[in-house]
Amino acid sequence: MTSNPYEILGVAKNASDEDIKKAYRTLARQYHPDANPGDAEAEERFKEVQGAYDVLSDPEKRQAYDMFGQAGARGFPGDGDTGGMRFEEFDLSNLGDLLGGMFGGGGRRAASRQPVRGNDLETRVRISFEDSLKGVQVRVPVEAETVCHVCYGTGAEPGTVPVTCPQCGGRGVVSDSQGLFAFSQPCPRCRGNGTIIEKPCKNCRGSGRERTTKRYAVKVPAGAKTGTRIRLKGKGEAGYNSGPAGDLFVVVDVDPSPLYERRGSDLVLDVPVTFAEAALGASVEIPTPDGLVSLKVPSGTEGGKLLRIKGRGVPHLKGSGRGDLLARVNVTVPKKLSKAEKEALEGYQKVSRENPREVFSA
Ligand SMILES: [Zn+2]
Ligand SMILES: [Zn+2]
Repeated sequence: MTSNPYEILGVAKNASDEDIKKAYRTLARQYHPDANPGDAEAEERFKEVQGAYDVLSDPEKRQAYDMFGQAGARGFPGDGDTGGMRFEEFDLSNLGDLLGGMFGGGGRRAASRQPVRGNDLETRVRISFEDSLKGVQVRVPVEAETVCHVCYGTGAEPGTVPVTCPQCGGRGVVSDSQGLFAFSQPCPRCRGNGTIIEKPCKNCRGSGRERTTKRYAVKVPAGAKTGTRIRLKGKGEAGYNSGPAGDLFVVVDVDPSPLYERRGSDLVLDVPVTFAEAALGASVEIPTPDGLVSLKVPSGTEGGKLLRIKGRGVPHLKGSGRGDLLARVNVTVPKKLSKAEKEALEGYQKVSRENPREVFSA
């Protein structure tokens, strides 16, 4: 006996919803217990067909079967002892035609199961400062709720199918008439689903969902900074009742750099120079994200002055181009001097004293 719902319905793997429905109706009529009284084999076949249609008529379950079906296809609905039948798929459609709008469009469809979008998820990823400048591909593990791979989201133990709720007859609502008025309310037994699960799937305890860890390759763009959010559409939690999946947001944390301080798209770098270099002017080798460059410090540069090197900063996250590198001149005082340096400075001091400058001019 095959457990493949496509084979049971005799349709191709890429069959359209319409083809599946057509095959189901034909087979369900053929094996319907009313048409085969006392025929146990026909009844078995009928249950198989019901089970197969239950999976293939629901996009979420069908997708789950396509993903996990080969590994998990053991004892697919058909060999259980459930007496549950779901006749309403075609019985009610005929009934609905006869009765027209009497029940407001009729059937359990109207009363039950609205598609609900899955939740968005957020996760953080830490990258190095260097990677934030160049962009990097990272793998992000995400724990998310997905359709159960054992029951394909039906919530019923493999080999069984959800059965029509006996309290509401599958309509999902019950009405209570009090005098002239009839009150409709969601069925308390099946909570509006129209079906109940007699033997819940052991893997998901009947929820039809399970938590799994998935890994996604995420491209962090050049120029990302701490707090940058990257959206992966449809990679959040699975939707409910065939609703769309939520999104996954990856939030970036960037390690601080020992060299650079980030200011928007600019980078600030402290450049130590001696008093003589600041006073006389000098050429200093400084590190940039693209390697060493030669920085010209003009003569008479004060400590704290920012010297701008165009286009050596952080790539703009949106649009093209880059910010600048700002070299902050840091005039340093030597703690130890060689004999020659000491003599040179003493000479400088002697000359300065002979030509005093007005430091505090009014
Ligand atoms: Zn399950
Ligand atoms: Zn019910």
